[in-house]
Amino acid sequence: MSAGLNLRGLGPKRKAALQQEGITDLPSLLDCLPRDYLFAENVQAIAEVQPGPACIEGVVQTAPSIQYYVGRSIVRAKVADTTGVMRVFWFNQPWMAKQLKQGEHVVLHGMVQEKEKTGRSLLNPKIIRDKGIIPQYKPLPGLPGKVFASLIDQALALVDDQTAETMPENFLKENNLCDKGTAWQFAHRPQSKEQIITAQRRLGFENLLMYQLAIKSMSSSQETGPEMDSSVFSTEAFWQQMPFAPTGAQAATLKQIYRDMSSPKPMRRLVQGDVGSGKTAVAFGAAVFAIKAGYQCALMAPTELLARQHAANAEKTLSKYGIQCGLLLGGMKAAERREALENVKSGAWQFVIGTHALISKTVVYHNLGLVITDEQHRFGVKQRQRLADKAEDYVPHILALSATPIPRSLALVLYGDLEVSIMDELPPGRQEIKTRIVPQNKRADLYTYIRDKAKAGEQSYLVCPLVEDSEGEEQDKQSATALYHQLQKSALSGIPMALTYGSQPEEEKQDALSRFYQNLASVLVSTTVIEVGMDVPNATTMVIEDADMFGLAQLHQLRGRVGRGSKESWCFLLGEPNERLQTLTQTNDGFKIAQKDLDLRGPGEFLGTRQHGKLLNVYGISNIKLVEETSRVVKDLSENPQKAGLYTRLMKMANDRYANQLQDTGMH
Ligand code: ADP
Ligand code: MG
Repeated sequence: MSAGLNLRGLGPKRKAALQQEGITDLPSLLDCLPRDYLFAENVQAIAEVQPGPACIEGVVQTAPSIQYYVGRSIVRAKVADTTGVMRVFWFNQPWMAKQLKQGEHVVLHGMVQEKEKTGRSLLNPKIIRDKGIIPQYKPLPGLPGKVFASLIDQALALVDDQTAETMPENFLKENNLCDKGTAWQFAHRPQSKEQIITAQRRLGFENLLMYQLAIKSMSSSQETGPEMDSSVFSTEAFWQQMPFAPTGAQAATLKQIYRDMSSPKPMRRLVQGDVGSGKTAVAFGAAVFAIKAGYQCALMAPTELLARQHAANAEKTLSKYGIQCGLLLGGMKAAERREALENVKSGAWQFVIGTHALISKTVVYHNLGLVITDEQHRFGVKQRQRLADKAEDYVPHILALSATPIPRSLALVLYGDLEVSIMDELPPGRQEIKTRIVPQNKRADLYTYIRDKAKAGEQSYLVCPLVEDSEGEEQDKQSATALYHQLQKSALSGIPMALTYGSQPEEEKQDALSRFYQNLASVLVSTTVIEVGMDVPNATTMVIEDADMFGLAQLHQLRGRVGRGSKESWCFLLGEPNERLQTLTQTNDGFKIAQKDLDLRGPGEFLGTRQHGKLLNVYGISNIKLVEETSRVVKDLSENPQKAGLYTRLMKMANDRYANQLQDTGMH
C-alpha cells in the first residue's frame, strides 16, 4: 500500500498532527477506529421516550442557561417536538451553553432519566447533525472532525482489498473472520449493527492476536537469572523483624517469591493486591533477600511522591539490616545527581528507589539482581524490561506490584508474560471504610461534618470532578483551584486547607502535601493525583465530587486513601444513587468491585479510563469472549507443529506492530 498520506485537505500542519498520533499511511489512518457509535437512526417522539439511551429531534424552546455551583456547573435547556417538551441538562460541560440557540432545530442523543417529582429529562446529550449510525472518534488535536471524516472516506475509496489483507485466507476462514477491507468499511461507515459486529470481530481478533504474540515474543524461557543462595534469608525471620505479623496472603506471596528467586530461572511475578493489602512489605522482603544474596535491588514507582514515600519507609524498615538505600529522581540538581549515580554504580547504594529516572541511559547499576515496579499498570512492558536490561550477564528477577484488580480472564492476556499472585486479604484491625452516596442537596451537611472532624484533629480529602477532554490538565487545575477558593471563603472558612493538582509546580506540590502529612492542613483539595500512594493514617474522610464520572475501580482506589489508621473512616460520593455507585456502599472488596465495573460497563470502558493511565489501546479488549478465543488461538499456533510457519510469520508481524507501542505507552 502507498507509503505516506496524500489526501485532499491534508496540508503539512494536519499531516504533522496525524503523525503525532502515529498515523502515517492508509492502514494506520484506517486503524483509527471509532470509540463508539451513536445509533441515531431511531428518533423517538418526546412523548414516547423511555429511560435509557435515546435520540430525540425538535426545536430549542428555551436557549441554554448556565449555572455554576461549588465545583461544578449545569447547563439547562428545553427542546420540543409536536408531542411534548423535554428538559435537557449538561453537567460540567459549560461550553454547551454556547452550542444551541432558541428556535434552532436539533437532533440530540443522550440518556433519558426519569424522576418521580420532575419527570423525564435528557442528560448530557450529544448534538448530532446527521441521522443514521454515527461513528464517534477520539478527537484529534488540530484536526476538525469534518476533515477527519473526509480523510476516512478518501482512504476507504483508495484501499485495495488485496494489499490491505494481513492474514492468510484460510486462517481467516478457519476463524470466521471477514477480510480487512470489508472490516474497515463496516467499522467506519456501518449500515447496520451486524456490520459493526463483523468489523469489530475481525479487527479485534487481529489486534488481540498480535498483542498477545508480541508479549509472548518478549519473554523467552531460556534465560538465566541471578541465582540467589536461599540460605541467606528466611521469610519467617524477616516477618519477625517487621512491626506487624504478616497476613496469610503476604506470607504466602513472599514464600512464593523466595522460591522463585532461589531458582536459576529469572522470576517474573505480578502481585495483585487491593489497596492497603500490604504489598510494600512483601516487596521489601524480596529486596532484603536479593541484597543479602549480594545483589543490588531497584524499585521504580510512577510518581515522585510515591518514590519518596518508599524511600523513607525503606530507610526505616531496612536500616536494621544495615542496608543502604538511595533515591534517584528526574529533577535532581546536577551535583546531587552525579553523586547519586556514583552511589548506584559503585554499589554503595544497595537498594535504589526512584521514578522513570532509574531507566535513563546514564544510570549504571552494580550487580542488579532484582527489579521491582510499583503500580505496574502505569508502566509499559518495555519500561520494565529496560530496567531489567540494566543487568549485565543475566536477567534479573522481576517483581511487579499492582493495586488495580483485574479479573483473572483479562489478567491472563494482559500479563501474559507474568505469573500472578493475588493478595486478597487485608491486615487485621483495618477499619472497614463506610461509604455513603450524598445527593447534592445534602452538601452543606457534609461540610459541617468535615468542620467537626477538623476540629477533632482528623483530616479530609476532597477530590474534584474528573475532567475528560483534551484540555484536561488546565481544567483539572481550574476546577480544583475554584473549589479550594470557594470553600475557603464559605463552608470551610477558618479551616486550614491545602491544594494540589497534577500540573502544579513540583515545589508547591511538595509544600501542599507536606502540610497535609504534618496535619498543618486539615483538608486537602485535589484532583485524582492522590490516587496513588498517599498514606496519611490520620485522614478519615474522603469526599469525591461527581462520583458517577469515575470508574468504580478508581473510586475504590481513591477511597483507599482513608481507613489507614485505627479511626473510623468514611467515604462520601457526591451524586445520585444508582446501581454502580451502590456497589461501593455494599462492598470493600476490590476484586468484586472490578468485576462489577466490568459487568456494567464492559472492559473497554473499564480499562480505557484514566485509572489505568494509557493502559490499553488494544482494540477488541472489550470483548471478553474474543479475548479468550484469541488466547486459545495463540496457544494452538505456538504448540501445533503444522502451524509453525504461520506462527513465525504472525509473530514477526506482531513484533513490527507492537514493538514501539509496548515501549511507549503504559499498556501493561
Ligand atoms: P499497598 O498494598 O496498598 O501498597 P501498603 O504496602 O502501603 O499497601 O500497606 C498499607 C499499610 O498497611 C502500611 O501502613 C503498612 O505499614 C501496613 N501494613 C502492611 N502489612 C501489614 C500487616 N500485616 N499488619 C498490619 N499492618 C500492615
Ligand atoms: Mg502500594
